[in-house]
Amino acid sequence: MSQFLQQKIAPNKEFGNMASMSEKQPTRVLDQMSRPLRDLRISLTDRCNFRCTYCMPKEIFGANYQFLPRAETLRQDEIIRLITLFNHLGVHKIRLTGGEPLLRRDIIEIVQRISDLKLINDLAITTNGSLLPQYAAQLKNAGLNRLTVSLDALDPQIAESISGGKSLLPKTLQGVEAALEASIPIKLNCVIQKGVNESEIIPLVTFSREKQIPIRFIEYMDVGMTNQWNHKEVVPSSHIKKLIHDHFPLIPSENPLFGETATRFSYLDNNPGEIGFISSITQPFCSDCTRARISTKGELFTCLFASKGHDLKTLLRSGMSDQSLIEHFQNIWHHRKDRYSEQRSSTPSSQTKAEMSYLGG
Ligand code: SAM
Ligand code: SF4
Ligand code: SF4
Repeated sequence: MSQFLQQKIAPNKEFGNMASMSEKQPTRVLDQMSRPLRDLRISLTDRCNFRCTYCMPKEIFGANYQFLPRAETLRQDEIIRLITLFNHLGVHKIRLTGGEPLLRRDIIEIVQRISDLKLINDLAITTNGSLLPQYAAQLKNAGLNRLTVSLDALDPQIAESISGGKSLLPKTLQGVEAALEASIPIKLNCVIQKGVNESEIIPLVTFSREKQIPIRFIEYMDVGMTNQWNHKEVVPSSHIKKLIHDHFPLIPSENPLFGETATRFSYLDNNPGEIGFISSITQPFCSDCTRARISTKGELFTCLFASKGHDLKTLLRSGMSDQSLIEHFQNIWHHRKDRYSEQRSSTPSSQTKAEMSYLGG
């Protein structure tokens, strides 16, 4: 077995023997910057019912766009097997994403099966919220721990324009209510773009304070090749924070956690809400990055900005043993050197990057 392993695991060839594998201590592995692997984001589908301008612009993702054929998408059993195997490397945190994960017809079953594994401490979904009115209660019953709902505007016209004419704002807001009623902890994700939705910052914060839902502002990122990203459209977190602080004074939250992407603040006026900033452009956090992603097609990406993933689906379908698969994943993580965001300003990128809807946001 490879020398970089910190701890050995017992051989196991059969998927059916997962229960006995799960009793063993996890085998940790560090990458080239000493970062452990802790969380896994899985893109359940590359399809979406929205066409957000910054993610799946409708001019490219139009009626003729070729999404992945269903046979190429990871199947439920494959997803469960991958989670079980990655758990052996220390993954206890799973986020199901996409595309729009709630478009997957077997979403409730997937959540139930992950939850039944009893290996994952934190099972979350990121969604545009439009299908939550019908799914929130079932997701809760199936064992979902947390939800992140993307909401970039409360003004119907701005929401409509950002979503490429597909916004279902009333449904998303109903979805937020349904999740609160089902007692699923929620966070809001907001991407602010210059000249597009800066006017929505204070209304969104006001909404999150009233509902006592933590809110995160994500800097507009240069993910993928289709959104025509331009540095000038990024609103730095520092600007957003100052604007909010002038309305609702903020104090830094204590004890930032290792691997946490957001810098968090609470309100001076004792509103119990929380606010966070994810500043991939102005304050990159690669040195703490413990995340891997699995694309809809079953490729392992070790960075959101990578050009290529490692094909796991073919290996899964080739009859490779669990033990060999685990060693293969360890090997990939061990060789990881990614720090794209830290290098972005010094080396302007000309590399091809996978789309976020495909590799999993
Ligand atoms: N469809 C779901 C949703 O919108 O929540 C999940 C997938 S989406 C790709 C995941 C997250 O990525 C969303 O919160 C979205 O706002 C964010 N996102 C997509 N493109 C982005 C970009 N270029 N910059 C920053 N965030 C982006
Ligand atoms: Fe769809 Fe989410 Fe991308 Fe918007 S951000 S297009 S909702 S995948
Ligand atoms: Fe992680 Fe890559 Fe983002 Fe850096 S740029 S934080 S390595 S995903």
